[in-house]
Amino acid sequence: MPVDQIGDVYVAGRWRTSRSNEHTVVTNPTTEEPVARVVSGDAADVDAAVRAAADMAATWARTPVPERCELVRRLADEIEARSDALTRIITTENGTPVAESAHAPAQAAAHLRHCAEVGPAVLAADIRPNPMAPGDTLVQRRPLGVAGLITPWNYPLSLIVVKLGPALVAGCPVVIKPAAETPLAARMLMDAVDAAGFPAGVVNLVTGGGRTGQALVEHDLVRKISFTGSTGVGRSIGEECGRLLRPVVLELGGKSPALVLDDADPAVIAATILKVSMRNTGQTCKACTRLIVPNTRRREIVDLVCDVVASAPVGDPFDPATFFGPLVSERQRDRVLGYQEIGRHEGAKAVLGGGRASGFDRGWFVEPTVFDEVTPDMRIAQEEIFGPVLSVLGYDELDEGVAIANGTPYGLAATVFSRDEERAAAVADRLEAGTIGLNHYGSNAAAPFAGHKASGLGVEFGVEGIEEYLALTSVHRLPRG
Ligand code: NAD
Repeated sequence: MPVDQIGDVYVAGRWRTSRSNEHTVVTNPTTEEPVARVVSGDAADVDAAVRAAADMAATWARTPVPERCELVRRLADEIEARSDALTRIITTENGTPVAESAHAPAQAAAHLRHCAEVGPAVLAADIRPNPMAPGDTLVQRRPLGVAGLITPWNYPLSLIVVKLGPALVAGCPVVIKPAAETPLAARMLMDAVDAAGFPAGVVNLVTGGGRTGQALVEHDLVRKISFTGSTGVGRSIGEECGRLLRPVVLELGGKSPALVLDDADPAVIAATILKVSMRNTGQTCKACTRLIVPNTRRREIVDLVCDVVASAPVGDPFDPATFFGPLVSERQRDRVLGYQEIGRHEGAKAVLGGGRASGFDRGWFVEPTVFDEVTPDMRIAQEEIFGPVLSVLGYDELDEGVAIANGTPYGLAATVFSRDEERAAAVADRLEAGTIGLNHYGSNAAAPFAGHKASGLGVEFGVEGIEEYLALTSVHRLPRG
């Protein structure tokens, strides 16, 4: 199959040839065949993109909010018009089963429409009487300026759009730097941007890896960074932004708990555990990969979960019946195999899976794995694996279960299972997590998504996600008349 040679970046409303001589080969994780050779933008590409965005900053900030929102709605339409192609690209470059990737365009569109709907109210200035002196104050919400958006590979479209929608509505032009593994969905997103009719320079894209991202973070004209990715890289970006006094949102890793209470309904666990713990072949930041169960029900729940996981098909991600596809890359496959080895070495018991998936002569497939007899100090209970590996930990008293749930550096998400929703909610109040599901796991474009502890800083989604791109200015006024 011919491999596409892609040597351009999207700057100021057109594809322009990069002079960089570095490339990344995008590989189909199912077939291990190269799909495209995509340029890794260099500092000159980043500079051109940031300057194009900066040139538009004042114009875009002055564009009336309803007009900006209308363009964002059109972008939603253009994404939906490319639904099939986007689904195919996501599954080709990332291996996400189509059962999952087919929803990505509609979800992205819903997110954009929500931003357009709530944007005008978020951006409106308000007047506050002064309780200390005569007069009042006009509190303005102004766009911060050029925003650099840096994203990982696991949800190649959605994770860009959850930054793009709020930034555009807020009035910030952007430079997007997608993951090197998955630049193709991002490139198709630029076609949608073009078709939606955004003024040239408002949305720019530079493909590449860490070095390209770093050039964006450090660029003088960037006024905001929004990063989604690993805690390690997030920490270094946070340090750099601290030095530059540059506002930053960091959406980072997790090791989230699913805490099963002693009255939990096994049918509910059976119906939801795959989505809660192993969505996108476990490559989901908010996956609840530690199943914390009362020891009195441990055997029953481990058997139940193993049955459910074992019955979920592993295979070709283009088959609509497939639940587990390949992992995104050989590196990620090796990382997951490495953690399976670490788990065994630490004394955990692989009650399901534990190695490479059999029956595949190519593709980066691993066996969906359940480890029992995991203790809180083990690495497989503490570190993010980012694959289909579930660690089961037991507890005797509920306080112990809560302590185990909170006992990692992370605080991204959690799920609580109980037949009594009030009881589940009371336990949820004790969990250190930014997103908690009661007997299910979902997301809501209208509700804030924010990692606590080492899972991040700042917020995405909801009106709060738009506020991240705004600076407050107070204009004090004397009494009138
Ligand atoms: P990563 O941190 O390696 O890379 C993320 C992005 O940062 C990529 O675009 C990469 O090219 C870029 N990058 C790498 N080094 C950089 C640097 N020094 N400066 C600027 N940019 C740099 O993460 P990954 O392996 O691509 O993604 C997996 C991670 O993402 C997991 O830890 C997962 O939990 C996390 N994640 C978090 C969320 C969330 O919302 N909290 C969502 C999805 C994924």
